[in-house]
Amino acid sequence: MLWSFVHPHRRKLALGLVLALLGSALQLANPMVTKLVLDTVADAGSLVVPISLLLGLFGLGIVFGLWHWILMGTVAEKVVLDARTSLVRRYFRAALIPMSRRPTGELVTRATSDTVLLREAASNSIISLINGGVLLVGTLAMMGVLDPVLLAVTFTAVLVVTVLFLTLMPSIATAQERAQNSLGLMGGVLDGALRAVRTVKVSRAEERLGGQILEHAEQAARHGVLSVRREAVAWTIAYGGIQLAIIAILGVGALRVTAGEMEVSTLIAFLLYAFTLMSPVMELSQSVTTLQSGVAAAKRIREVEAIPLEPSSEGPDVPLPSLGGTGPGAGEALLELRGVTARYAPGAEPALERVDLSIPRRGHTAVVGPSGAGKTTVFSLFLRFLEPEDGELTLAGAPYSSLTPRQVRGHFAYVEQDTPVIPGTIRENLLFSNPDASEEDVRRVLGEVRLSDKVDALEEGLDAPLDATSFSGGQRQRIALARALLCSPDILLLDEATSQVDAITEAAITAGVRRHAERKAVVTIAHRLSTVIHADTIVLMEDGRVRAQGTHRELLDRDPLYRELVAALHISETEADEDGVRDEGLPVGSP
Ligand code: ADP
Ligand code: MG
Repeated sequence: MLWSFVHPHRRKLALGLVLALLGSALQLANPMVTKLVLDTVADAGSLVVPISLLLGLFGLGIVFGLWHWILMGTVAEKVVLDARTSLVRRYFRAALIPMSRRPTGELVTRATSDTVLLREAASNSIISLINGGVLLVGTLAMMGVLDPVLLAVTFTAVLVVTVLFLTLMPSIATAQERAQNSLGLMGGVLDGALRAVRTVKVSRAEERLGGQILEHAEQAARHGVLSVRREAVAWTIAYGGIQLAIIAILGVGALRVTAGEMEVSTLIAFLLYAFTLMSPVMELSQSVTTLQSGVAAAKRIREVEAIPLEPSSEGPDVPLPSLGGTGPGAGEALLELRGVTARYAPGAEPALERVDLSIPRRGHTAVVGPSGAGKTTVFSLFLRFLEPEDGELTLAGAPYSSLTPRQVRGHFAYVEQDTPVIPGTIRENLLFSNPDASEEDVRRVLGEVRLSDKVDALEEGLDAPLDATSFSGGQRQRIALARALLCSPDILLLDEATSQVDAITEAAITAGVRRHAERKAVVTIAHRLSTVIHADTIVLMEDGRVRAQGTHRELLDRDPLYRELVAALHISETEADEDGVRDEGLPVGSP
């Protein structure tokens, strides 16, 4: 799991390993040279050579150490960047429906905090593991060369410490993994709660919801404390073990020196090794800990990467020619659904069942029906957010399966039901789908959605930041609508796009949409019948099926459900014959 992240940097890692091993070799040589110094003193020889040797080792050690540190730090940052790049790309290429099942906050946590855990694990700790092992074996070997009896004493201590670590490590790792999981959950709930902060306040649920979120934070802390406690115990025993070993070495060594079985210089060299023994033991156990949390993070990152991609989103991306509504064949079907059945999850109730639908190249098609009827689902199919389980969609005669999602979407503009704005200024929001649009066009669409005055009143004009608070819901809807109109698409999809707009503005927008429908295809989902009365075709949906199709008058004559929907809005036929604007502000229930 972890190796897949490290693999691209294996050359640098290999260099890092060589540097680390060189450092270890120098470290191992140090006590031996110290012994040489002591022996030379005992023999009254010249100290020039041994001292310069010590200084040389010191200098080399510093250079290798510095190089290794910087190299590994760089690799670590690269690994994190790679993981983040892959995650962010993945998020935008993933199939929409499976991805939207995960809370956005959690997806964010994976890209921000899990990748940090990867940092140390994917660079230093792999090397430390090898280097620590080599250093440990090397130290023990040098000790064996110096004095086998004292080695036996040391070996027992090392064995105890190792066994202890091997037993405690897995539980430390589990605790850390759980802490990280809780953090992800907290991110998910917190994100959702902050989005709905007004509702939270009005429901006076701040305490309750805050408590729920903090529950996850507390859980993370609990698991964190558990892991810290275990780590502390493990380290204390390790330190204690080595310290006891040093005392034992001192005692046994002193006895052996008194008995004349070993020299003082050998005992000193041995003790120096015993003191340095701590560093490989530490290095080993620390790298095991970071490796474990790194593997857990790698797993969580790869888990998100298991979200399926959109179909052939990596395939060729040749743009389709424009399918403009003018010229010959303007009345032909541009977009067709044939016997389409779709579900949001395998085994779930079908959201659409055997739907046949045809959208002409030109004109206004309105989709109406009770909520939950499958209207938005039809748009999701048009835009390939959802793939049909059965049946076929075609665009200008070409089956969807032969096109990439990008090719298909290139012909659409879409105003979604919840009209989110994109982080940035008004201008950036408008130019989002069509970055090359001229200033003149921008002004024109602003006029069409009746936002010119509002924008002119702003000090920064088009460059004012468009955050959710400074614009009302209806104004944001109009920005989204202007964005869609600006790219002058072959097919304009509006999903309840004027639901938050006042009646006068809506009438103006409806006129704009009608103008667009004279040249191109427009499909609207509307809950106010006044906006659909003049549609060329009205598609009435119910329970995932197309119940009836026709003009307003035909449906009124033919369909009781349609009559019911119309009656609920109290639109008399005479009013409908007029402009369809006057009944706009009529509250439900008025005569
Ligand atoms: P509407 O006509 O109100 O736009 P939708 O097309 O949104 O209806 O929904 C049709 C059906 O599909 C509903 O029963 C709804 O519960 C279901 N549905 C919609 N979106 C999802 C989703 N993302 N995941 C699972 N089921 C969904
Ligand atoms: Mg809907």
